[in-house]
Amino acid sequence: MRAIYLSKDNEQFSAQLREIGADELAAATAPANVTVAVDYSTVNYKDGLAITNKSPVVRKWPMVPGIDAAGTVVASGDPRYQPGDAVVLNGWGVGETHWGGLAQQAIFKGDWLVRLPASITARQAMAVGTAGYTAMLCVMALQDHGVVPGAGEVLVTGATGGVGSVAVALLSQLGYSVVASTGKATEADYLRRLGAASVIDRAELSAPGKPLQKERWAGVVDSVGSHTLANACAQTRYGGTVAACGLAQGMDLTASVAPFILRGVTLAGVDSVMCPQPRRQQAWQRLAAELDRRKLDAMTREVPLAGALEVAREILAGQVRGRVVVNVNA
Ligand code: NDP
Repeated sequence: MRAIYLSKDNEQFSAQLREIGADELAAATAPANVTVAVDYSTVNYKDGLAITNKSPVVRKWPMVPGIDAAGTVVASGDPRYQPGDAVVLNGWGVGETHWGGLAQQAIFKGDWLVRLPASITARQAMAVGTAGYTAMLCVMALQDHGVVPGAGEVLVTGATGGVGSVAVALLSQLGYSVVASTGKATEADYLRRLGAASVIDRAELSAPGKPLQKERWAGVVDSVGSHTLANACAQTRYGGTVAACGLAQGMDLTASVAPFILRGVTLAGVDSVMCPQPRRQQAWQRLAAELDRRKLDAMTREVPLAGALEVAREILAGQVRGRVVVNVNA
């Protein structure tokens, strides 16, 4: 089978497309015991970091990257899964410490798999990918904290990115009034087509700001971090919630406690990697039921397996709009 293969010899990093034998795959992935014929994978921001060796995402060498995969079980030593089962995998350290989905075959632990809802194809599941599933976890976090559609405007940062695009589509579908923050003025129409009620320049949020600012947002989905997250908290209305999942601007967070202790704002952290199975399954059921497929198609483009190497560079340069699926068999 063919796979993207990352190796490091004497600190010399390489990323290439390579043939990998069944024995090599089995040895690298033991004791995992569910073999999946992968149909589609995708390139998330974290995959971009791994494939370009930009930050220490990969913690075991050599590595097949790809934190996401969707496909069909072809062999299983786990009684919960049988050949023919359609499955999706997101996270659990796959593509970081365990060989991942940017390959024609993968071997995963049964505990990591989610059954693909019948109404969603493998390609659609990878158009969603970790980015879209994280967007749904962010929406669920806002709802858990009582942010309802009539409560006021909801801000989505990094709006043309993978998390942002799916968050805009989901929130608008649910009836929220979505304000999309982007650095790409030329993509305002794209964001409106996904459902944004209005679009703002991300420069309004990206510089250091005051600890408390004019109250505007009932809720926020933030995939950017740094000053953007600090400003989003400072502009959140009394009792509002900010779901924080990303660091596209930076991992730092220089903020004050003022929004939390004076306005009762909640900062809700969102993690997709180790998210417990019941919440994952709920997120996938909701994505299958609630995400508008025409909007998903409009935000997705497809590349062959080798194309993942170039997309990795593009995503780190902030040049990817929406989502990219990888047809691992092309
Ligand atoms: P993308 O690269 O697709 O999107 C990120 C977007 O952020 C860009 O498209 C851009 O949007 C904006 N952006 C990029 N650079 C900057 C910058 N310097 N300042 C402000 N905005 C910037 O990535 P994803 O959507 O896939 O992921 C977004 C973030 O979420 C990443 O940091 C990723 O690691 C994280 N993440 C976390 C997960 C978790 O489990 N917590 C799971 C999935 C992702 P625009 O041009 O529209 O402004």
